[in-house]
Amino acid sequence: MKTIIFPGSFDPFTIGHKDVVERILPLFDKVVIAFGVNLQKKSFMPLEERMERVRKAFAGNDKIEVTSYTGLTVDLAKKYDTHYILRGVRTNADFEYERIMADANRRLEGVDTIFVVADEKYAYVSSSLVRELSAFGRDITDLIV
Ligand code: ADP
Repeated sequence: MKTIIFPGSFDPFTIGHKDVVERILPLFDKVVIAFGVNLQKKSFMPLEERMERVRKAFAGNDKIEVTSYTGLTVDLAKKYDTHYILRGVRTNADFEYERIMADANRRLEGVDTIFVVADEKYAYVSSSLVRELSAFGRDITDLIV
């Protein structure tokens, strides 16, 4: 079974994240959406609510698994017996950061990163934008799952 891990903070999980998952789905048997937990950081939306919303968004699709983890993504990949991680890229800045992580993960752990380039419709969407809009009382429902 071909499995890929999609790791992120997903605080919250946006329509941009959903698009990345939908576009990789035809290539894999299973996509594991993995919420990285940072115990030091207070989250915008509680972890359980974020995970539940994603489960609902993909309800009925048995290729999707939703989980949370602490520690290294490469260790999670091993647990799922895969060598593939999924990441999205919107900008050059995303790419510069991602390529270093991807290189490290491949060299040190033999785990490869597959990139999906953001659809231009969603390139402006980020979890931090959603948090910012929400902090100033704007409606965020169309930007998140
Ligand atoms: P992290 O905190 O690990 O960077 P995020 O939750 O912010 O994780 O994002 C997870 C992944 O989704 C990252 O690879 C990020 O670049 C990508 N991503 C975020 N927003 C979008 C978008 N609108 N379109 C495509 N990819 C995106």
